[in-house]
Amino acid sequence: MSTFKAPKGTYDLTPPDSAIYLAVREAIAAPLKRSGYGYIETPGFEQVELFSRGVGESTDIVSKEMYTLTTRGGDELALRPEGTASVLRAALEANLHKAGNLPVKLWYSGSYYRYERPQAGRYRHFSQVGAEAIGTEDPALDAELIILAVDAYRSLGLKDFRLLLNSLGDKECRPAYREALQGFLRGLDLDEDTRRRIEINPLRVLDDKREAVQKQLVGAPMLRDHLCEACKAYHEEVRALLTAAGVAFVDDEKLVRGLDYYTRTTFEFVHGGLGSQSAVGGGGRYDGLSEMIGGPALPSVGWALGVDRTVLALKAEGIELDLPAATRVYAVPLGEEARKVVFGLVTELRRAGVATDFAFGGKGLKNAMKSANRSGARFALVAGERDLAEGVVQLKDLESGEQTGVALDAVVRELLAKQG
Ligand code: AMP
Repeated sequence: MSTFKAPKGTYDLTPPDSAIYLAVREAIAAPLKRSGYGYIETPGFEQVELFSRGVGESTDIVSKEMYTLTTRGGDELALRPEGTASVLRAALEANLHKAGNLPVKLWYSGSYYRYERPQAGRYRHFSQVGAEAIGTEDPALDAELIILAVDAYRSLGLKDFRLLLNSLGDKECRPAYREALQGFLRGLDLDEDTRRRIEINPLRVLDDKREAVQKQLVGAPMLRDHLCEACKAYHEEVRALLTAAGVAFVDDEKLVRGLDYYTRTTFEFVHGGLGSQSAVGGGGRYDGLSEMIGGPALPSVGWALGVDRTVLALKAEGIELDLPAATRVYAVPLGEEARKVVFGLVTELRRAGVATDFAFGGKGLKNAMKSANRSGARFALVAGERDLAEGVVQLKDLESGEQTGVALDAVVRELLAKQG
């Protein structure tokens, strides 16, 4: 061990478990890639103001959890706490919305940073795969994104997750509701912080996890009863499209989520095996965000799924992903002359697409065979001077123990054939 440790609230991904994370990222991205979403990558940090304006000054993410820094040049930057604001900023900067093909559909994968109190499933550095569909207001687009997330979870074999669905209304109906809710909340017995929240973002009080607060919220006006006709019709269509696609959901009228930019459709995926940090992913429509960060009106919808918690969910359900072994063939030379020939074969096999590793460091046969077994390889390719003089190598099937001599010039063909 070195003198240093991973910073508090972070952890390293190391083999073999790191392969699971990669597979999860790929599984989430796969449905997006076949649905017209293009890959986007943005910097790990942005101007602080992008998040304070976009995500919202009153949110925990901005007010308490951002890692901010002042550069030597005097710029105020923040490590990105979420993806949507950056992706929209980048799309606007590249004028993707002017290319004439709306919606602009993008997906991304990366690290995010929040100064949170670390606990199981909650880290200061975590990983998300996200998707955004920018510039179109169409309930089918909201449904598409939700279906793609469900398909990703299903492709991983997850079963114990639920989709919570709500509509937050729009600029027509939300202001009147906000006022009605504020009126109700001001009459309750709440702490200083929460009272302040009533004035800045009363909807988030509904999301308060404390039981004492929840008790008082019984009878609070619900947005569902205040939605305008357009929002109601929009939401009904999203629900109908999900149902038609065989996607079950739970209507959750208290789901407001921790970011200010959401309008209309909001949703969250929760998993039954994760304890208090049960949200594995979430998203919604953010029709006003583009204007909030200085862009044109671009109604949009997106989600982000947490990779760390998806891996925890797999563990909770006892799901072992069927990952291809990192190494298929482990090559063991016996003697100096054989080293050169076998190393050459290793390169040939790799170039042909066979995952191959080599007994580096001049290990003796016994040690090398131990390494071969530890590597998870299916075959050991062993060759000494005598084999090579006869123009063969020995191929040992590490599952059956069976060993056969294979002509040097047939090794690649033979191993490719065994690969199927
Ligand atoms: P949010 O942007 O808060 O909606 O987060 C989307 C998803 O990212 C969540 O559902 C989690 O799966 C994941 N996530 C958010 N914050 C954290 C965190 N601190 N640690 C691990 N995963 C997180």
